Amino acid sequence: MGIDQHGRAIDYLRISVTDRCNLRCLYCMPEEGVAWKPHDAMLTLEEIAHFVAIAADEGFSRIRLTGGEPLVRLNLVDLVRDISQTPGIERVAMTTNGILLPKHAEALREAGLSRVNISLDTLDPAQFAHITRWGAIADVFTGIDTALNVGFDPVKINAVVVRSLNQDFLAFVKLSLTRPLHVRFIEYMPVGDSQGTDGLGWNATDTIPNEELIDTINERAKAAGLGKLIPLNNAAKPEGWGPAQYYQLEGAQGTVGFISALSRHFCGECNRLRMTAEGQLRPCLFSDLEFDVKGALRSGDDDEVRRVLHEALSTKPDEHHNQVGTTRLMSQIGG
Ligand code: SAM
Ligand code: SF4
Repeated sequence: MGIDQHGRAIDYLRISVTDRCNLRCLYCMPEEGVAWKPHDAMLTLEEIAHFVAIAADEGFSRIRLTGGEPLVRLNLVDLVRDISQTPGIERVAMTTNGILLPKHAEALREAGLSRVNISLDTLDPAQFAHITRWGAIADVFTGIDTALNVGFDPVKINAVVVRSLNQDFLAFVKLSLTRPLHVRFIEYMPVGDSQGTDGLGWNATDTIPNEELIDTINERAKAAGLGKLIPLNNAAKPEGWGPAQYYQLEGAQGTVGFISALSRHFCGECNRLRMTAEGQLRPCLFSDLEFDVKGALRSGDDDEVRRVLHEALSTKPDEHHNQVGTTRLMSQIGG
């Protein structure tokens, strides 16, 4: 396991496998998508697998594939198989918008993928089409059903909360009542062009601190006769590699989690590195500091790859210091 300069154990690697996507969420990606890049700007699947093998040897044991939309990358199932068979890798997970899960879930499960997080910010079809610019919510619902049916465990639903979007939080909480779905509310973060020249743009007032959100949900749950959110201890939480705080409604099959990257930042517990689809390692989501894994991989010298990995680890900042905006969009970093 890698230990960074602040004594944190870093064993979780989030890998963006593409910066392309089949949706265009307002807060994540401009309508025209990402600028075209030559094919060799991106890591090949073989290069990603080779890097994972080196990272595993350096103590990384948990991998999450993300994007852009990871399922638009051709032959992703082969990558999942390679990674999950890599000695030292214990778990492989994916964050997806769910649209292509019906097509690929079974093969992914067989290839060794154990868990999926499905992003969904609203349960209202018109609002979903607005937020994603053209998505059909029925496709995501089918994706969620498929994820449960093929046996991914846990299946989590990630909802980014944006005050001005006026989302129906209680509808999400109710999702956890009758099925083993773990709903997580994520504070809207100032990543990418936070100035609002494109898409939604980040504005501090749009981030609802999780404490406020919990109060709002409890008020609405009480009014609906559903009681209130009960905090869960560690043993009762769904498996996770992040710092979400979990709750549950009485009798519910699933849980409700809150990820407070801004209002109660968890940098002290940060356990991860991120790698972009272009093979750049990012020690912190909120910082544009990057380390060139692609160049090291293409030099053919594995010791150089290890050196870059160690450099990224040793440069991991103690916290994000509320930095606002990054050169890369969230779709390029992977969330
Ligand atoms: N396309 C996949 C998906 O949507 O799940 C994976 C990539 S997406 C960039 C990963 C996660 O980042 C999604 O849950 C998305 O909602 C979240 N995200 C994107 N921009 C965000 C922002 N500004 N603040 C918080 N979360 C954000
Ligand atoms: Fe695509 Fe995911 Fe970004 Fe939405 S959040 S535009 S689905 S990468």
